[in-house]
Amino acid sequence: MSQTAQMPAPANAASGAPQAQTENKYCVNDYKSGLKPIWCAGCGDYGVVNAIYRALNMLQLAPEEVAIISGIGCSSRIPGYVSTYGFNTVHGRAIPIASGVKMASPETTVIIAGGDGDGFAIGGGHMPHVARRNTNMTYIVMDNQIYGLTKGQLSPTSEYQLKTTTTPYGSIDTPLNIVSLALSYHVSFLARGFAGDINQLADLIKQGIEHEGFSLVHVISPCVTYRGMEYFKTMKEKCVPLPDTFYDPTDKVEAFKVAENTKTLYTGVIFKEKRPTFNDNVTSLIYEAQKDKKYEVDDILDQYLAR
Ligand code: SF4
Repeated sequence: MSQTAQMPAPANAASGAPQAQTENKYCVNDYKSGLKPIWCAGCGDYGVVNAIYRALNMLQLAPEEVAIISGIGCSSRIPGYVSTYGFNTVHGRAIPIASGVKMASPETTVIIAGGDGDGFAIGGGHMPHVARRNTNMTYIVMDNQIYGLTKGQLSPTSEYQLKTTTTPYGSIDTPLNIVSLALSYHVSFLARGFAGDINQLADLIKQGIEHEGFSLVHVISPCVTYRGMEYFKTMKEKCVPLPDTFYDPTDKVEAFKVAENTKTLYTGVIFKEKRPTFNDNVTSLIYEAQKDKKYEVDDILDQYLAR
């Protein structure tokens, strides 16, 4: 089942008569919580939250049909700025909590928002499993290659030899490549956007939400405070929209080539495939188990009590 609610068909659709332009029920402002973001001026995360407002508006999702779950970090403040349900959880644990929300309420559109440190250091163990299970959720990873909230320490995506508050002589670690990892983990929808291109990013988030399965939108979202405006300009130059005819996005080998290209960071849909979602598989499993009646909980408990 798609994450998006079905829009009702216009009343005169069957008659073939010209259809009147239906007015949108929600406008972009309906998705704003009224809480003023406290990010530093120029932070890429402003672009991302605006892209989320636009994506939700394009899909005309009711705010109460959506839940945004985050971990901890600058970008993880996002649930507070959106009028949907939201939960700013604990460091690195947004994915398991979001998974619980989706299982308990499959009709809810679940979006996970967080940074590179939150999702790929302390929370890194959750990513492969939610991706291979194909839980029907959208994960927006704001990658600024630094820990911003805690004042500029090395993150798992910081480049080799980067000088930070914890690496004054330069990093000696090879950075993680989130896009390559996501492909290896079998995400069924993968896109990359740039926080400074809100129109494209909104469209990618919209496509991610519409996708049936686990979608990851990797966003280059510069931290201007600990990486500076020069870094923002460099990343802007490196981010190039994928030409439409570049390759077929269902071709994983070609997608890996794009992922491994770190000189040009192509933006757009990098990979997509269709396969059963976790929710579909669990529904089938429950049906099979109930039909089979081989494993009744009371019987299993009785076996232990009899020992
Ligand atoms: Fe954004 Fe960096 Fe400021 Fe955090 S510290 S709000 S990531 S600019």
